[in-house]
Amino acid sequence: MAIGASLLDVILPRYCAGCGGNAAPEGGFFCWPCRQLFPVITDPFCALCGDPADGTVSMAYHCAACREHPPYFDRARSALRYRGVVKNALQAFKYSNAVWLRGDLAGLVSACVDVHYAGIPLDAVAFVPLHPRKERERSFNQSQLLATELAKRRGLSLLRRGLRRVRDTPTQTRLSAGARRVNMTGAFEIRDADWIVNRLFLLVDDVMTTGATVNECARVLKLAGAAGVYVVSVARG
Ligand SMILES: [Zn+2]
Ligand SMILES: [Zn+2]
Repeated sequence: MAIGASLLDVILPRYCAGCGGNAAPEGGFFCWPCRQLFPVITDPFCALCGDPADGTVSMAYHCAACREHPPYFDRARSALRYRGVVKNALQAFKYSNAVWLRGDLAGLVSACVDVHYAGIPLDAVAFVPLHPRKERERSFNQSQLLATELAKRRGLSLLRRGLRRVRDTPTQTRLSAGARRVNMTGAFEIRDADWIVNRLFLLVDDVMTTGATVNECARVLKLAGAAGVYVVSVARG
């Protein structure tokens, strides 16, 4: 096995998605120094949306955004902050078709689920769908790839086409939280409500910023009868 792996490294060298150096010999697409630089999200953070907070807060801390606009999802958590080597890797995954990173990224998300959602009887994995036009342009949906890998690893069902994007929303990068909420309203539709009723969903995305996109997905899933929606993302913007 070890011989096979090292032989494969000669034929198909693995480079680190964080820094471009050689990836760790054990496997995957990060080197050890980059893994040590992973900006892991630790306490304190908002009990609802998981947004990191400064200083010390009480256990039941809810951030101002959640107090003002309570989210439709039950909780959201992210493995890492969206910066440095994590940002490099996620940009390569999303924009340069680095699909081989799905194993590493799904591993990070799965570890985050173990830490934050232990004991929650999740049934199925859902993902943020792309508008069909955007999916054709990009050739794949990075969130779907992550969700597929995660469902496989955790032995959960996958909601493949039950949630669809019916509106191609303008990019949200420059929009405020309020404008993002308006921008996302009515962007998604449910196709397979019978399948969704009473299921407890793990909703996966690559990067979560204000949470407007996952919140709108959670809203339509719950409207269709989902028992719960727990959001998880690789990184938090
Ligand atoms: Zn590296
Ligand atoms: Zn919050």
